[in-house]
Amino acid sequence: MDFLTGLNDVQKAAVTAADGPTLVIAGPGSGKTRVLTYRIAWLLQQGVAPDQILTLTFTNKAAKEMKERISHVMGNAANRVWAGTFHSIFARILRAEASKLGFPATFTVYDTDDSSSLLRSIIQEMQLDPQVYNVGAVRSRISLAKSNLMTPQVYRSNEEWMTQDRQQKKPFIVDIYEKYMQRCKLAGAMDFDDLLLQLFRLLRDNPDNVLEKYRQKFQYIHVDEFQDTNFLQYAILRRLIKYDGSKENLFVVGDDAQSIYAFRGATIDNIIDFERDFPDLKVYKLEQNYRSTHHIVAAANQVISHNKKQLQKTIWTDKNERHKIKLLKCLTDDEEAKRVADLILEYKNRYHIPNQEIAILYRTNAQSRKFEEYLRRQNLAYRVFGGMSFYQRKEVKDLVAYLRIAVNPIDEEAMRRVINYPTRGISDSTLQKIGKVANQLNCSFWDAMTQVPDITDRAKKSIAAFRTLVLKWQEQTTKANASQLATDILRQSGLLDTLKADTSPEGQSKVENVVSVIDAIAEFVNGEVPAAEIAGADEVQDKSLAAYLQTVTLLTDADDNKQDTDRITLMSVHSAKGLEFQCLFVTGMEEQLFPSFMSSEDPNGLDEERRLFYVAITRAKELLTLTYCQNRYRYGQIRSFPPSRFLEEIGPEHFEISGGFGSARNAGREQEAVSNGARVSGVTPIRRNNGPIQSTISAAAQAAFTASPAEAIVAGVTVLHLKFGKGTVVSVEGPKDGKIAAIQFEQDDVPERRIVLKFAKLQVLDS
Ligand code: ATP
Ligand code: MG
Repeated sequence: MDFLTGLNDVQKAAVTAADGPTLVIAGPGSGKTRVLTYRIAWLLQQGVAPDQILTLTFTNKAAKEMKERISHVMGNAANRVWAGTFHSIFARILRAEASKLGFPATFTVYDTDDSSSLLRSIIQEMQLDPQVYNVGAVRSRISLAKSNLMTPQVYRSNEEWMTQDRQQKKPFIVDIYEKYMQRCKLAGAMDFDDLLLQLFRLLRDNPDNVLEKYRQKFQYIHVDEFQDTNFLQYAILRRLIKYDGSKENLFVVGDDAQSIYAFRGATIDNIIDFERDFPDLKVYKLEQNYRSTHHIVAAANQVISHNKKQLQKTIWTDKNERHKIKLLKCLTDDEEAKRVADLILEYKNRYHIPNQEIAILYRTNAQSRKFEEYLRRQNLAYRVFGGMSFYQRKEVKDLVAYLRIAVNPIDEEAMRRVINYPTRGISDSTLQKIGKVANQLNCSFWDAMTQVPDITDRAKKSIAAFRTLVLKWQEQTTKANASQLATDILRQSGLLDTLKADTSPEGQSKVENVVSVIDAIAEFVNGEVPAAEIAGADEVQDKSLAAYLQTVTLLTDADDNKQDTDRITLMSVHSAKGLEFQCLFVTGMEEQLFPSFMSSEDPNGLDEERRLFYVAITRAKELLTLTYCQNRYRYGQIRSFPPSRFLEEIGPEHFEISGGFGSARNAGREQEAVSNGARVSGVTPIRRNNGPIQSTISAAAQAAFTASPAEAIVAGVTVLHLKFGKGTVVSVEGPKDGKIAAIQFEQDDVPERRIVLKFAKLQVLDS
């Protein structure tokens, strides 16, 4: 039992708690995930069989890390524990039981793009106005209905929902929903929400042969990040847990203050429900933060205290306070990226921090580009999570679509995507006709392909030839090795030749991308990559192409199939949940960005943004830097917003005020000094300090001041600035419209100031 020595008393009590429902509720960095991991190791040590243990984590990567840790103490048994995300574990169960729901075991998982594309077709076929029935809005409405367990029939009989739709002038949403469900079924496809909804139905409708089986199987269920479990996920968990009074082994850990998925239907109420549903619940509260130093913990506590609705928790740390929080005020997003990259280099030199201990977080994925640019310039290795991921590239999606139809030929979206790519003489109008026939006969797109009247002989021939090819592949899916089959498909489909024909460097990189999919499948088959484990490893692992495709679709933003190497992490705050880094940058701390513009009108939205910010800063172990810009390129133009209100919620005593770049409170003043007029009309800053500008030059010199044109400011010249005095221009860079000069002022303790020439008033002096 020596591994228990790495735990404090409360942690130890939780880890070794007797059977029964258990909740560990505690702030960030207090060891919740550690407790969960040790709990599993402890259960194994007590003789519980690994495949009786189910663990649901936020990312597949988290599940993998957990297994690795457990295997340190308990050896290989750890690999047989079922661990993964809700979606990947549920997909695995559904594959085994699909026939009971009328789906093929090889069902496809439609990603968001597939769902949107299908909805678009349906809206068009129903001749509804696509402006009114905006695909994104319709999709989220349907998603919400599903996560509330509403089938189209239930939806139709729900007066409240129907009235809402009528008021919104979208009375046909329920019809779109109904059609969408039918089409998914005909295509042998489930979307992300279906993985939950269908599993719920499966368990509800098959109490004896299915539910009981899994109840027997999963004797111990664990959930990390429980605060982000939604209603439906919780409903499934409750069913899976035995209700005979003795075996309610649901062990969950979470922090209500870190709940950040309200938009996905997760509410912190599920923690409250949990306490109500299980009256004999054991609750453990952890209070010591082992992750972060004092300033970070104190700042986080200050920030979250602005949210009213939260469970009371205290959190403290005994880590000493070497560093305060750094606040970087930048003129532009370009400068922000540059200074972050510079600071990373400086930290690496000074503290020898490995790249994997460094992360740059942002509110929206679009912010990553600038950081990538400057990290590359500094030759710093990085990895971007989320956003335009590898599997979203066109050529990769095309290959995956081919693999999908080989496994499941009735997959309509995949079929539509590649049936005429590379071109086979099957025109759009032919596709429309096939779609129509499928609708009339209520059959799959695949079946309709052979039943279309009035199409040309050439099209008929092409369709027949293509179907023969697909059927040949399908036959191979049960016989051939998945990577060999994928290679055949890549060649025989003509995709490889088409890509090879483009000899530009861009074209070549597409070839490399599809080849690397084949490599990934080979690794999957040979069991060398985590992908093989993440769907919840059982003794006999499923190495089929179908299994591979499912793991790929269910990768989350924070997962990465590549081998881990020493790289800096770039990710959205949402993806960073549960992670920790020695050195952390939380960037873009401006109003309308963080908090997001979407939340500004809604107090609940604002609270959620604050929890998100709380999650962000509590990822830092030691060095935390917050950055904001006065001017940022957004929506095609330079815009300017005041510093984020969240910065003001942190006491100035926690900030390091270096080199004249003060706290957010000084922002207005500095903005006055180095820029003017950049503010977009209509956006009023929430607070500004218009105190007098302290000038370092005499009144006489001020009177004689005449600003020189921006072109005159070049490296090497001496300039005069009304506030900072005399200085030498060290360098000038940036695009014509957004040139920034680095200037060393004589009377300044800052190494260099970076000033946007467009806004600054500088006079070139004769030296
Ligand atoms: P979050 O809410 O962010 O997910 P958490 O509560 O899950 O945080 P962990 O990630 O489990 O916290 O722990 C934070 C850090 O503190 C980890 O590096 C962990 O190894 C360490 N830690 C936890 N408990 C102890 C302990 N008793 N002694 C030493 N280190 C600990
Ligand atoms: Mg955790």
